[in-house]
Amino acid sequence: MRRRIMAANWKMYKNAKQTATFFEQFNPLIDGVAHCEVVVFPVAVSIPTAVEATRETPIRIGAQNLFWAKEGAYTGEMSADMARDAGATWALVGHSERRQYFHETDTDVLKKTQAALSAGLTPIVCVGERPEEHKAGKTDEVLVRQFAVGIAGLTEEQFARIAIAYEPIWAIGTGNTATPEIASQAHKLIRSEAQKRFGREAVERLRILYGGSIKPDNIQGLMKEPEIDGALVGGASLDPQSFSKIVKAA
Ligand code: PEP
Repeated sequence: MRRRIMAANWKMYKNAKQTATFFEQFNPLIDGVAHCEVVVFPVAVSIPTAVEATRETPIRIGAQNLFWAKEGAYTGEMSADMARDAGATWALVGHSERRQYFHETDTDVLKKTQAALSAGLTPIVCVGERPEEHKAGKTDEVLVRQFAVGIAGLTEEQFARIAIAYEPIWAIGTGNTATPEIASQAHKLIRSEAQKRFGREAVERLRILYGGSIKPDNIQGLMKEPEIDGALVGGASLDPQSFSKIVKAA
């Protein structure tokens, strides 16, 4: 059995004070929950506050983004080592909003994933098709390309330390969750690409999360799918009650 990962992507919401308040309310709600990993990705400046607020808990904190260089003249960027130094142990890589608004490519995704791994962070690498690609029936083609360029270049040892999130862009923040069947089919495709490159054993250990308009009332259907190894939750993770219900459904 793969241990599920329930992750919260807070995007550009919550300052440090709001981050502390969230955990004051959230920690008791998931007290005793041990069946899955819980990871929260706050904005970068709130990572130390989040780490402090979760010190006595199994909750782990991650960076939403990082740059691949170790240091240098890259105004506005943060290295993987710096994220680690701030207390992050996980990193999101290649989120669709990074790809869409900040023009991140699959090649960038590979470099960022390698940098995160070198710093000892666990990357969740995001893939998923755009609405027009979905409508044109190109989901498989897009996932194959994103895997080939953004992930297949990892070594076997590196691949063993990542998780993948399938996040169809038409489902993110739209209320249009993928059905469990659609999500499961995409996960199978990713798994089969991964098997071709990394072999059966590596793929049996690979955790693939689904993300896109997950809410407490649709999480159960998704979690029934054996192909779905967890959730990456945006909007519904901002509220402690709602995210705790999602975590408990894992
Ligand atoms: C996300 O940002 O990764 C996400 C899945 O957002 P939402 O849950 O709001 O669709």
